[in-house]
Amino acid sequence: MVNQDAYHQLKKELDPKGVTLVAVSKTKPVAEIQDLYALGQRDFGENYVQELIEKHSQLPSDIHWHFIGHLQRNKVKYIAPFIHLIHGVDSYKLLEEINRQAEKQNRIIGCLLQIHIAEEETKFGLDATELEQIFTAIHANSGNLKNVQVKGLMGMASFTEDNEKVRQEFLALKNLFDKYSSLTILSMGMSSDYQIAIEEGSNMIRVGSLLFGERT
Ligand SMILES: *Cc1c(COP(=O)(O)O)cnc(C)c1O
Repeated sequence: MVNQDAYHQLKKELDPKGVTLVAVSKTKPVAEIQDLYALGQRDFGENYVQELIEKHSQLPSDIHWHFIGHLQRNKVKYIAPFIHLIHGVDSYKLLEEINRQAEKQNRIIGCLLQIHIAEEETKFGLDATELEQIFTAIHANSGNLKNVQVKGLMGMASFTEDNEKVRQEFLALKNLFDKYSSLTILSMGMSSDYQIAIEEGSNMIRVGSLLFGERT
C-alpha cells in the first residue's frame, strides 16, 4: 500500500528546495505505481531490466523512468527506446553501448556516473581518479558520443546508523560534483538518509520504502 501521507509530506519538503523525487518502485506492483501516479508523481526508479520493461508497457507513457540498478551492457538495448535517465553508469564501455543504442532510437539518453562513496566493498562505482579518466575519454571522443548526455553523478552512502559518516560521504560526492561545472544533477539520498543528502547538496533523491513500505 502506498503511504499517501508520507508522499505529501515528502513533496512539501522537496518542492520548495527544487529537489526531484524519484519514487523507487522495484518489486512493487503496477497498481501501487498507479496510485502514486494519480497523486501526480511522474518519476519512477527501477533496478531490474525485465521488471522495468513489463511495467513500462502497462503504465502511462508520460512517466519518466529512471534506471537505478547495475546495468549490464547486453541489456541496454531493451530500455534504450524509452529510458529517461540511467543513474548507475560506471564505465566508459557502458557509456559507449548506451550511445550506440540511443543512436539507433534517434534519442539522446541522459546518464549519471556512479561514484563509490561508501565504505562497503560491494557497492558499484568509480573513484575520483576513474571519474577523471572517464571525462578525459569523453572529451577525447565527444564526436562519437552524440547520443548520450552525462548530466551528473549518483552515489550511495554506507549503510550505517552513523549520520556523521553518511554526511561526510555525501559531502565528498558534492565536492566531486562541484569540480565539473557541466554537471547539473546530483542523485544522492534514499529513505533513510535523504535529509542529510539534501543538506549536503543533493537535488535528486531516490526513495522507495518510505513511500511503498518495506520490500520483502
Ligand atoms: C532500492 C534503491 C533505492 C531506494 O531505497 P529505499 O531505502 O527503499 O528508499 C535507492 N537507490 C538505489 C540505487 C536502490 O537500489
